[in-house]
Amino acid sequence: MTLRVASVLHDSVTDGPGLRAAVFLQGCPHHCEGCQNPGLLGYEGGTVWTAAELLAEIARNPLTAGVTFTGGEPMEQAAALIPVAERLKERGYDLWIYTGYLWERLDGAKSELAGLADVVVDGPYDAARRSLTLPWRGSANQRLIDVKKSLAEGKALELLIAGRAL
Ligand code: SF4
Repeated sequence: MTLRVASVLHDSVTDGPGLRAAVFLQGCPHHCEGCQNPGLLGYEGGTVWTAAELLAEIARNPLTAGVTFTGGEPMEQAAALIPVAERLKERGYDLWIYTGYLWERLDGAKSELAGLADVVVDGPYDAARRSLTLPWRGSANQRLIDVKKSLAEGKALELLIAGRAL
């Protein structure tokens, strides 16, 4: 199974904490008004990668501590991303996934992929609730979901840092 990837950005410091590789997946069904990546909406753009090629690209920078799947809509390629996510977690990377879907609506492969992440940032970009100050998200409706705690409690729980939601 292959992946359609728009780009891999090394040294990202805006797609989650620490030094990260941001993987921009091509294709998105949400068409949010004010989308900042309109070139990633089409499903025919980008280039085709195998899981092994993507893992090798991420490993090129030995200082990378985290990986973020963003886009585009990573969940549209959930089945192909699952083995990538599994290898990344085996290798000790912190894994974040951005999705325009709500956590509660994820099912099948989308839910399985979400369960492999450390944090899922959910919900579409809402231009009316745009924020330049909230960390790691574009609009205030989006949640930073602590995956391990949410799965344990059976409901979406937001990431707390020093005991506080961000
Ligand atoms: S989910 Fe992201 S990539 Fe997709 S339309 Fe919304 S802002 Fe753009």
